Amino acid sequence: MADRVLVIGSGGREHALAWKLAQSPHVKQVLVAPGNAGTANNGKISNSAVLVSNHTILAQFCKDHNIGLVVVGPEALLGTGIVDDLMSAGVRCFGPSAKAAQLETNRSFAKAFLDCHGIPTARGKAFADPQEACSFITSTDFPALVIKASGQAARKEIIIAASKEEACRAVQEILQDKVFGKTGETVVIEELLEGEELSCLCFTDGVTVAPMPLVQAHKQLMDGDQGPNTAGMGAYCPVPQIPEALLEKIKDSILQPIVDGMRQEGTTYVGVLQTGLMRTKDDVKIINFTCHFGDPQCQVILPLLTNDFYEVIQATIDGKLCSCMPAWSENHTAVSVVMASEGYPGEYVKDMEVTGNFPRELGVKVFHAGTTMQDDKVVTGGGRVLTVTAIKEDLMSALEEANKGVVAIRFQGAIYRKDIGYQAIAFLQQSVYVSKGT
Ligand code: AMP
Repeated sequence: MADRVLVIGSGGREHALAWKLAQSPHVKQVLVAPGNAGTANNGKISNSAVLVSNHTILAQFCKDHNIGLVVVGPEALLGTGIVDDLMSAGVRCFGPSAKAAQLETNRSFAKAFLDCHGIPTARGKAFADPQEACSFITSTDFPALVIKASGQAARKEIIIAASKEEACRAVQEILQDKVFGKTGETVVIEELLEGEELSCLCFTDGVTVAPMPLVQAHKQLMDGDQGPNTAGMGAYCPVPQIPEALLEKIKDSILQPIVDGMRQEGTTYVGVLQTGLMRTKDDVKIINFTCHFGDPQCQVILPLLTNDFYEVIQATIDGKLCSCMPAWSENHTAVSVVMASEGYPGEYVKDMEVTGNFPRELGVKVFHAGTTMQDDKVVTGGGRVLTVTAIKEDLMSALEEANKGVVAIRFQGAIYRKDIGYQAIAFLQQSVYVSKGT
């Protein structure tokens, strides 16, 4: 019997999750709470106003509406125990428990976990006492230091200190002056790693690990990786400059040891795990966790999944992932370009009408994020407004298509990057150059 699914969230990621789930013959309806203009009355997909912050009301809603599966998008909700509460109320929910999600919600936990299990990461330590933290800073030989408040709300709030004095000042501000409030009760101090940043995601049922193709996301707002860090301005998948053997190595030395370590510690991790990796000149090291699909990583990965997403999720929840491993297209590349509102990632302008007449033959998929319906018009309502995703046989064609899609969509003050995938392009051009022997 076909199922009803509830996707929680309102971003481009949630639109992509709903879109992929709706392709399954097992799924008769996808509700998105609260959703956006792209998930409102869109075939099998529609929005729901159910209150997701009250887990009792949410569980009752799921029972009343025959929801057979809940997929939680935003990482922040995982820390509230939404998965634990729904599962114990008898509602099937995809994602890690609040304890397992500490990999993301508590950087001190993650640091200690990685060190305890010998998983390659930046050297460093967590501290609650400012004096001890400063003594550590004074004694390190790290050329540059990164200071991170431990808690989730301070995510993306990392401080890169060029000198030991600056690092000590940052520690005092977080631990003594409490500039990040409760999320700064402990700090993680680590070496600044240099290299190419990648995202490696996997499905895991707590034992089996099924890696997804690698993704490279672009965090900075402006071309050339300039400007402030954002949640992501674009991404592409797979990453041609990374050899297949490296993905195997990442699985063996990072993903599997994490999943095994969590299980051994009694905090079995079930769901999608995204690792932020730095490919340094010596090795690949993990620098952060996201306890679900990241955004925009999700929008470039899911289009490449060739089997039934709903079936893979159900097998993951049931601990039977090895009987339903995800399969990926080997002859497609996906590119996503994020279109954001003027002012993003700071205070941004809202209520701009989104227009556009992009030809269907372009083959782009537009995943909505910060959009709402006003009368019959789509208007902007968030910092990141849309993700334009193109799926083609090769990276260059996908980039060209995505960029055509972007220029065909209009709203006042739209910001987007024009150099998504520049590292891959440089690599591909270099390969052509070498193969021609010039
Ligand atoms: P996080 O807040 O830990 O999720 O990190 C946010 C971003 O800061 C990462 O995506 C990296 O770009 C950067 N970052 C975090 N830790 C390090 C590190 N040890 N070395 C270099 N860059 C880092």
